This record gives sequence, structure tokens and C-alpha cells, in this order.
Amino acid sequence: MRIGIIADVHSNLAALEVVLGALEGVDEIWCLGDVVGYGPDPNECIELVSKIARHCVVGNHDLGSIGEIDLADFNYEAQAACSWTGRQLKAENKDYLRGLPLKLEVAEGIMLVHGSPRDPIWEYIVSTWLAEENFAQFVETVAFVGHSHVPVVFEKSAEGPCRPHFFEEGKAFNLSEGSRYIINPGSVGQPRDRDPRASLLIFNREELSLEYHRLGYSVEKTQRKMERAGLPQFLAERLSWGI
Ligand code: ZN
Repeated sequence: MRIGIIADVHSNLAALEVVLGALEGVDEIWCLGDVVGYGPDPNECIELVSKIARHCVVGNHDLGSIGEIDLADFNYEAQAACSWTGRQLKAENKDYLRGLPLKLEVAEGIMLVHGSPRDPIWEYIVSTWLAEENFAQFVETVAFVGHSHVPVVFEKSAEGPCRPHFFEEGKAFNLSEGSRYIINPGSVGQPRDRDPRASLLIFNREELSLEYHRLGYSVEKTQRKMERAGLPQFLAERLSWGI
């Protein structure tokens, strides 16, 4: 079974469409939250994700956009984008976000969460130290996470300490039996690893392998829509740099 793993779409329809094109033919798609926030197409992205994702968890920007968490906890640009998003969202799309779980066990030994296993909304797993602490907070073999917008694998082998691995395009990453993993596919709609291309993973459950893909899309198209919508200029500019 081949499963497309996507995260942090952030209302970037141009990026999402390219990613879904690359995922044609997979058996399932799992989404790790932050479908909206930052970008110009929140309704369109929710409508696509709700149709194609077999499983989806909720992210901080999803909750911020529907008034479920306090916008004071976000920085200025994120607040502005969440307020704008909330004003655009159709009632049924707000309901979709409201109905998403914080955590999901999608198959035996596999969990999905937006932030981290111990703090699904806010914690960024950006160091081996934080990954190590989180391994003690869940029992599953694999946790797929989003939120940091940086593709990475943290491996916890039976005896050794936690180790990070970085993906190489076109090269499969093989999971080892006996190890546990925290895996981030990177972001579809706002990558932050200085590569502006949309990021995704394909997880092969039988082979226990991950394929990593980066896909170019029309950043300018998304930026033009953001300008027209009056979204903060920095949020449009950062898409060009992948930051
Ligand atoms: Zn995000």
C-alpha cells in the first residue's frame, strides 16, 4: 500500500494541485494539518483535502482560523492571515476543520499529529533533543508530524540515542525493523528549508520505505492572489525563498 503524506498546505492551491497530480495512483492520502492559514485559497484547499484525504488531523492555523484558539498566541502576520481566512471560510468548511481530531491512530503502530505527540497543537520538533523527549510520550512505532515545515526523520533505535536523517531526492529512505520514528514530510504550501518547492512523501507500508519528492509550482500565481487579497507582503515574499 502506497500512502501520500502531506502537511501544511496553508491555503496554497497552486502547490496543492501539483502535489495531488504527483500522488495520482496512490492508495490513500494522509494529511497532517494546517490546511489553511497564510495563503489565498482556504475554501478550495479544504474542499480538495476533504475529498482526497482518507485521514486528516487539525493544526494550529486551522484552529486559529475558526476561532478555536486565541490569535494572541500567533505572530502578527499569522494572526492577520488567520483573521482573513476566518472571514473567507464557508460555514461547511469551518465545520470540516472543527471536526478534525488532534491525533489519530490510523493503522496499527502509526499515528498522525500536527505538532508533536505530546503537544499536538504547538510543539515544533526541531531538534533530536525534542524528538527524544517525544519518543517517551507515545507508544506507536511511527508518528507522522508536520508544523515545522522542514522534512526530516528522527530515528530511535532499540538501544541507541535518537538520530536525525535528512531525505535525498530520488533515493528511498528505508525504515529499520526495531526502530521507532518521528517523520515530517515538509510543507506543501510554505516550505521553510530554503527550497521553495512543495514537499511530500510517499510511504510504502509493506516495504517500510519513504519516497521524498519536491515539486516546483507557480509561486508567482499564489503571490499575485495574496497581493490581491491584501495578505501581509512578507507572507508572499517568503514563498520565493522557502523560508
Ligand atoms: Zn504550518
